[in-house]
Amino acid sequence: MLLGIMIGILVAAVILFFLYVFPMCTMHPLPGGKIEGTDIIAMKNQINNLFFIPQGGDWIVIDAGSDAETVKREMKKMSIDGDRVKGVFLTHTDYDHVAAIVLFPNAVIYMSEQEKQMIDGSVYRQLFKKNKLPRLSDSNEIVYLSEHKMVEAITSWNEADADETSGYQQDVLCKHRVRMILAPGHTKGSAMYVVDEKYLFTGDAFKTTGDRILLHPYTMDRKQAKETIHRIKEELNKYEKVFTAHYGMVEIDGQM
Ligand SMILES: [Zn+2]
Repeated sequence: MLLGIMIGILVAAVILFFLYVFPMCTMHPLPGGKIEGTDIIAMKNQINNLFFIPQGGDWIVIDAGSDAETVKREMKKMSIDGDRVKGVFLTHTDYDHVAAIVLFPNAVIYMSEQEKQMIDGSVYRQLFKKNKLPRLSDSNEIVYLSEHKMVEAITSWNEADADETSGYQQDVLCKHRVRMILAPGHTKGSAMYVVDEKYLFTGDAFKTTGDRILLHPYTMDRKQAKETIHRIKEELNKYEKVFTAHYGMVEIDGQM
């Protein structure tokens, strides 16, 4: 009897290890720093990346990491002022993509309108667990996006910024355009963002080994995620750079 229980516990531990722990060991986010040939800054936060994109003297951010303290420390090193983050584009609302929202009190928080059900209490993410956002400031506003609606990211350009960043053109820096593409499966409303029609941020829509696109390990609806991958594979070739949250960049060679 006792032996049976012990074997049962051992089997459960092995299953849990392969389902939840092992996939984390295989994640390989980008090292922190500027992405070559772009003005995008990748920030490494434990097992994933968030991305800062300058906009005038302000910033827009793709996802918000898993640990606000680490993000705060890294932002300090890079002289990024959280008050000047004006837009946070969430690919989805899992805990490892939302934590540092608390550092961006003036930001508009964007997500797909399909992701709202993940944080309003109507859908469980896992057996007993629902997603939730950290406490927002009074100035934070949430905007739920419909697919392909173009967001002209907000900016507060002023002369002081112009002096600081002399040599830059106002119209180049101030008009980042962000478009959301739905990529459900990982969560109900998972989304990808296209910035300036050049860069694609895919969040956890899939896992990549560089040139192969695979199912992400913590997927909520595997069938839906497979449909998403099938639908977006061609799409990936359209962009100069394709970023994932946990697996670095996709190597685009037209062979996917
Ligand atoms: Zn994630």
